Amino acid sequence: FSSKLPETTVSIFSQMTALSNAHGAVNLSQGFPDFPADPELINLVTEYMHQGFNQYAPMPGIMELRQAIANKLEYLYRVQVNPETEITITSGGTQALFTAIGTVVHPGDDVIIFEPAYDSYKPSVEVFGGKVIPVRLQAPAFQIDWDEVENLISDKTRLIIINNPNNPTATVLKQEDLVALERLIANQNIYVLSDEVYEHIIYDGRVHQSVIQYPGLRDKSFLVASFGKLLHTTGWKLGYIIAPPLLTIEFRKIHQFNVFSSNTPMQYAVARYLGQQERYLNLSSFFEKKRDLLVIGLQETRFNILPSQGTYFLLVDYSNISDQDELSFAQYITKEHKVAMVPVSAFYSKAYNQQLLRICFAKKEETLVSAIQHLKEL
Ligand code: PMP
Ligand code: GLN
Repeated sequence: FSSKLPETTVSIFSQMTALSNAHGAVNLSQGFPDFPADPELINLVTEYMHQGFNQYAPMPGIMELRQAIANKLEYLYRVQVNPETEITITSGGTQALFTAIGTVVHPGDDVIIFEPAYDSYKPSVEVFGGKVIPVRLQAPAFQIDWDEVENLISDKTRLIIINNPNNPTATVLKQEDLVALERLIANQNIYVLSDEVYEHIIYDGRVHQSVIQYPGLRDKSFLVASFGKLLHTTGWKLGYIIAPPLLTIEFRKIHQFNVFSSNTPMQYAVARYLGQQERYLNLSSFFEKKRDLLVIGLQETRFNILPSQGTYFLLVDYSNISDQDELSFAQYITKEHKVAMVPVSAFYSKAYNQQLLRICFAKKEETLVSAIQHLKEL
């Protein structure tokens, strides 16, 4: 058998969660909340199910939800987005990413990604015959050198994937980054895939910079979002993608044979729920409290803490504690000290150890307190 993905194994998130469960550890590895979603939202889903909204949704998603998204974009970013021609509801961010990559990448095309990178980008590019060109970013700032990116661009470059706010580095892009990217792709046959699934989780008064706000980017970008992150419902697998009309037409050609459409009663429920702006405006302060609790607790350990500017992740440096490589150390802590975290090396295509682990803090206060108790033993 000739594998399309010979190097791909079970994802690091599945691996660490399985190890965590096997050893009864506190699971701060895979990114998902351990607290419930809003009961009001759950009631809305069941209400729509009882009302009979249980058959296929329209292929691009129900108009009520696309309109609610357009309203949110207008409110937050002061942009007009046409829900008919530019917004498509997807089965989570992952499906949006995969289908968008399939929309623009032809066999032999180059795709630039920044590492550490979310794990789905590289295999998705390779399934469609593309070649990943990784740009290696380094701790602690993980700053992009746009001149370096420019030097990697050739006739073969078809797509640049950015992730802002970034999983796993918890850094956010600045206005000058987006301006540099906009300049870089001007007059080139290059598209941008902007993974903004953590757009509503950004700290210390920072303001999210979306590709949709930059005309030269908006014209050539796919913007990916996920309701899993916004509503604490990662298991619902509901998200959306925004792209200019021509790209949306091409995206939907693939989407309709990839999933056709996404969960109907949840779309209706989310559309109603998003009617109130607090739903997305309060998310940053909600998670900022958790981040601060974690940071204060970690200060009593021997880990060095890297700043978390956005997302519900935070990186810690353990070079004061151990010389082990990241995977071995993450496995050791899970087994012996009962806290599961993710080795950052897993987000690089070529093994690269910086003695960093990723912590997910989308957890109940008691979960974080218990994890900190364990980490103090190290
Ligand atoms: N992109 C990033 C950066 C993510 O962290 C995640 C969720 N882990 C996704 C995409 C996928 O989103 P979803 O769970 O909605 O498929
Ligand atoms: N996005 C989650 C994370 O970064 C994991 C999602 C998954 O397990 N595929 O931890």
